[in-house]
Amino acid sequence: MRRLLLLAGLCGVASAQPWWEREPLRILDLVTSLGRIDYLPAATLAERKAAQLYNAEHLDVMKLPAGLDDRGFYFRSRYARVENPDFLGAYLPEAHKRGIRVLIYFNVHWYTRQFGEEHPEWRQIRENGRPLEDVYDTGTDFCVNTPWREWVFGILRDLAAYPIDGIFYDGPVFRPDTCYCRWCKEKFRNRYGAELPSKRERKGKAFAQMLEFQAASLTEFLRDSRKILKELRPEAAFYMNGGLRGANWATGRLNRVLVSEQDLVGAEGGFIYGDLTRTPLWKPGLTARLLETQASGKPTVIFAAAAHKPWTFSLLPAPELKLLYADSIANGASVWMGITPFEFEQPEMAVLTEMNRFVADNARYLHRTRSEARVALVWSDVTANFYAGSEAQLIDIDRVPSRTEVGNLEAEFSGLADALVRSQVPFDVIDDVTLEREPLGRYRLIVLPNVACMSEAVARRLAEYVQGGGALFATFETSLYDETGVPRPELALAGLFGFRSAGKIAGPRRWDFMKPSSADPLLEHLARELMPSTAYYVVGAPAGARDLIRFTKPLAGRYDGIPDPSPDPALLVNTVGKGKAIYFTGDLGASIHNFRIAEQMQLVENVARRLAPPPVALENAPSSVEVVLRSQEDGRRWLLHLVNFTGEMTRPIRKIVPLREARVSVAPEVALKRARTLVGRRELVVRRDAAGRATIVIPQIDEYEVVLLER
Ligand SMILES: [Zn+2]
Repeated sequence: MRRLLLLAGLCGVASAQPWWEREPLRILDLVTSLGRIDYLPAATLAERKAAQLYNAEHLDVMKLPAGLDDRGFYFRSRYARVENPDFLGAYLPEAHKRGIRVLIYFNVHWYTRQFGEEHPEWRQIRENGRPLEDVYDTGTDFCVNTPWREWVFGILRDLAAYPIDGIFYDGPVFRPDTCYCRWCKEKFRNRYGAELPSKRERKGKAFAQMLEFQAASLTEFLRDSRKILKELRPEAAFYMNGGLRGANWATGRLNRVLVSEQDLVGAEGGFIYGDLTRTPLWKPGLTARLLETQASGKPTVIFAAAAHKPWTFSLLPAPELKLLYADSIANGASVWMGITPFEFEQPEMAVLTEMNRFVADNARYLHRTRSEARVALVWSDVTANFYAGSEAQLIDIDRVPSRTEVGNLEAEFSGLADALVRSQVPFDVIDDVTLEREPLGRYRLIVLPNVACMSEAVARRLAEYVQGGGALFATFETSLYDETGVPRPELALAGLFGFRSAGKIAGPRRWDFMKPSSADPLLEHLARELMPSTAYYVVGAPAGARDLIRFTKPLAGRYDGIPDPSPDPALLVNTVGKGKAIYFTGDLGASIHNFRIAEQMQLVENVARRLAPPPVALENAPSSVEVVLRSQEDGRRWLLHLVNFTGEMTRPIRKIVPLREARVSVAPEVALKRARTLVGRRELVVRRDAAGRATIVIPQIDEYEVVLLER
């Protein structure tokens, strides 16, 4: 009997997927915590959310008057200082009746100054010994290693007494100069037998331990929280506002570490700020790709705000809202939209409802897909955390400037990402962990944008990858430092690149040039006498590689005559085993990011198209269409996502220019049988040329289209 029960139990576990893995989520966060939590009757509010077709939400039931305190709880809790109406109790049945899953939004990184003064021992302490203040200019924050954690756990238990579907933590995070509270100091001493290191000296073993310690502290806080929640509500989901693509040393939010204690992985890839012309159009998609890499197969969520930040009560034009959605789902992520009650009543919500309907109707084509990209662009968390050219990332837009502009990592990544998206060659975003221990064989080309900090293990795996037939494209100081930011005498990949460095950097070169030095297919469309130089480069000489481009000698002024050639290589190609290593000695990505130099973008496109020819190519469409290729059913079905960012030459985009008669050309080996569009809902005619190459024509693409390719 017991065995039977046990068996039944196991089968139950094996067959029943948790609710958050069953379909793509359409999550709403109606931000009521800044105003009135119960501004509408529970039934009315649930009805309005259901009418906009959301199937899940992060629900605000704690007021945030310049931070969280214990006076604005709208549920029954032993910790409530003030008794407010039990909105949660009234709301849950109304939401559930309408098919909406309810996760509670719990802010664990921002508390009122007064509440901080009432619990001084909970506060994060700065390196100078002062308590943390000025969080969002008005509040403070507590430390996960203090007894504050028991307060959080107590509230969790009170929340889990209700039939909630999950908990979402906004936070926890450390700050660039915290935490040096007595609990952190003691815990560190017990673990490492040393004093807490400074966060100002950001390299070497001590700083690596500090980072490990803070990420572990956050992980333990998540682990204990999750355990409490699951004991009371085994069916509930638990996750947090995760680390961004940035230098997460300041906050300790290392997704690769924190993922083990979460059921989903999410980050604010769709929060856009200030001068949007400087924000990558494809920010949500790039974030989604990195999250997929870091999520260990768990579902990913891109958090997007309907507001043009930092204006909390503002609304992006409808096409921008639609693009935030489209770029997330195109890259395999679920969507989460943060909206204030004012905007929730605006006509622009119609496009979000339309997108929700699209996701609901096409859930089977958006769920459990995998990328078919043959190119990988590396985002190196290690370099972001330990390299001097890296900016610290706080809460999305808040950044601590990098220590030097030389080798700016964010610019280097963004520039190469931009050139790759615009070359319309599908690519993944992978990280150091992928390079160190996950399969690389599916990629024909790996792009390393100034991956300056690299372990010996990664360098070895990259050498094996090239030996076995892979191609590498690396820039600037790639592999010059070890994985804790300590410089090496020579690039770890110098042998692979066929290059010998002279141990110095040339620049800044403000008006200087580069010059082709030999002919090669990689220089197609680049038959120039001279082309603009990057600002910096690693000085050195070929040691086995062939140079295709060299730098010119610096001019004293921009009208100082015709520049003389120099022997310094810019672009080197080295054939190693069955593969190829291509090394650009300058900060090519930063140069593209800053100036969008046409020849430099062309070079990246040539590298991608020559070394990893995509099986599906878009023609007769501008480079502002992002191309994502994913598959289902072991590759028998391909899904070609086309996100059309073609606007009116500025941002925010108020109107999209629709594309007509875009052609998709499909390589013979794909053996395309059938094609149809999911947005336009049309069966497309497949035409084949003598060589077996198939072509389909899409009559019109507005913001978004998905082409189903059956093989
Ligand atoms: Zn602390």
